[in-house]
Amino acid sequence: MKNKSVLDEADDIRRAVEMVQLGARMQMLEVETRLSREKLLRIYKEVRGVSPPKGMLPFSTDWFMTWQPNVHSSLFMALYRFYVERAALSGLDAIIKAYHLYLDHLEASALEPALSLTRAWTLVRFFDADLLQMAACRSCGGGFVAHAHDPVHDYVCGLCNMPSRAGKSGSTRTRAAKPMAVAKRKPANRAVAETA
Ligand SMILES: [Zn+2]
Repeated sequence: MKNKSVLDEADDIRRAVEMVQLGARMQMLEVETRLSREKLLRIYKEVRGVSPPKGMLPFSTDWFMTWQPNVHSSLFMALYRFYVERAALSGLDAIIKAYHLYLDHLEASALEPALSLTRAWTLVRFFDADLLQMAACRSCGGGFVAHAHDPVHDYVCGLCNMPSRAGKSGSTRTRAAKPMAVAKRKPANRAVAETA
């Protein structure tokens, strides 16, 4: 789609540059701006000094359920929801603000980010598509990313139930079983891809 005005295009370029600086993949840039693929490729190369990676792997909601990604995703979603609910931001603006804050949190704790901007963006899309929900941990009360339609009344988060002890817990094994509801929504999963 063509931009309506020079100002719209300038705004898209500014957003594209910020997304590339934060590590966005081409697919995210193409969805979130109205710039041509050619222009996006030029922006990418100018900002990063290299061509964008070509290989794209489809990935599913399951990635967000593994231990470390789940903790990081849950932190990101808490920040994202803060911007949506308290600062009345939406869409890409809320995602970018939350992602900056996510990086700040990790830097303050001297931790490596497990969640790329493209994955964070995908996470929000999975929530929008009702593939994921927030579950309250019955032990610490924190909000964590969980499969939609999974029973969450007895939910215990990955921080309260560390992986080394996870095998002992019957409820953890039950949760690891793939819910039917997610399998049925495959098309939305396939629509999103990223290099692992
Ligand atoms: Zn917990």
